[in-house]
Amino acid sequence: MSERQAPYEVTEDDLDSVASCLVEDASAAASAAKDTAAYDWWKVLFALYPNSKATHSRRPRDRAVLRDGIAELFLADGQGHATRPCTFCGTAAAAVWTKSNLPMFDTNKALNTLPPGVLGWPICRGCRIAAWALPYGSWVTAGSATVLSCGDEAAERVFCARNVLRARRLMHLGFESLPAGARPELVAIRALTAVRDGIPGASTLWSFKNDNQEPLLRVTRTRRAVPLLLATIQGNADLRRGWRLLELALTRRDKNGEVIANGPAEAARLLFEADDGRSRSFLYQLHYLLNEPDRNWNAQDRAAATRLACTYAEEILGMKPDLTPMATLIADWIEHGSGSPRGRLAEYRSVALSDYKLGILLTQAQFRLALDGRPVAAGPEDWRPLIQQRPRAWEQRMLLSATVMEVLQKRGVAVNEKPVDTDEQERTERLLEQPILQGFDDDDEMGPA
Ligand SMILES: [Zn+2]
Repeated sequence: MSERQAPYEVTEDDLDSVASCLVEDASAAASAAKDTAAYDWWKVLFALYPNSKATHSRRPRDRAVLRDGIAELFLADGQGHATRPCTFCGTAAAAVWTKSNLPMFDTNKALNTLPPGVLGWPICRGCRIAAWALPYGSWVTAGSATVLSCGDEAAERVFCARNVLRARRLMHLGFESLPAGARPELVAIRALTAVRDGIPGASTLWSFKNDNQEPLLRVTRTRRAVPLLLATIQGNADLRRGWRLLELALTRRDKNGEVIANGPAEAARLLFEADDGRSRSFLYQLHYLLNEPDRNWNAQDRAAATRLACTYAEEILGMKPDLTPMATLIADWIEHGSGSPRGRLAEYRSVALSDYKLGILLTQAQFRLALDGRPVAAGPEDWRPLIQQRPRAWEQRMLLSATVMEVLQKRGVAVNEKPVDTDEQERTERLLEQPILQGFDDDDEMGPA
């Protein structure tokens, strides 16, 4: 079948060939033995249509019988039947479907979701076929299917085309043949990068799940400026380096060296935010990596990661704070205050994200520098956005800490040397062992999830 550019170009012959493909694949999956690769496609169908002819526990196991039963779902409407407008597109439709054949419709909580006396929803042949073609163009797992909408048909087409190839592989070789730790966010980001070329526009991933009781929908979306950010990163060597460092840092392997978290997929995931607020923050992740005591990033790596954080803050969040005066004040105090630079860095690290505790540390630092006769780099206007509880304040504090680290590294301050004083040494190492979340106020605006 040749490729169609738009839905209206699809012919009746096209529908016939797609329908026969759906029927063949579904009957093969429904008659496959449980421990075979072919059975994995059945798991996908089960997550979407758990009570259909192809997935019901009391279905026939004979492939020919299954094939005939499933084929009935996609037959063209017979001539002379009464029609009503299709539930989804308004085309005249004679066939009616109940919830068991439709993704996201099947709940165990209600036996029937139709009004009394109504046999089902009228659904045209095109929409019936589309409802079962869904898993091919979706990014599927054994219990979910994820689709992309982004207002750009070309990008959506790229996303679907990659998933169709993946689905074919899955049907023949099973889930085990697919790379571990892969995620739909990466496929979506690659589609956006390939097609949108920096043109702003939000995109949304819709994940359909079914836990055998209830269909669930999880929605995550990118901000409008994400294509712009991706284009900026592509065009800048420092930012590309920062992004690559992020990918490498997010890659996780088990003790046999097998990848369990795929770095590029995890990095792409950070660009999507969940509607329920339960997603990791991009800036928080970079902040965490920049502040890990054992991270072996050199000065150039740190500068690249810091630049990436600042570029994200500017392009996605619209923040462009000048943090140099405050970073200089803190770096001066870390370098010249009493005790060792490592001890003071540990102290700063433990309060870096807290409005109140950071305010106290800044006050101490300011007095210390002034009493020692050193210039104080920052004024009240520089302080204000960092010590207040207000939107974007914690992001500013993260960017500040990245900037402080950069200043220290540029100056060559030896923060790796342990304090001479044993009490200070003990306190410092104890502070450094604490997870970075400590010192983060729970009631703070927009805390990381
Ligand atoms: Zn329709």
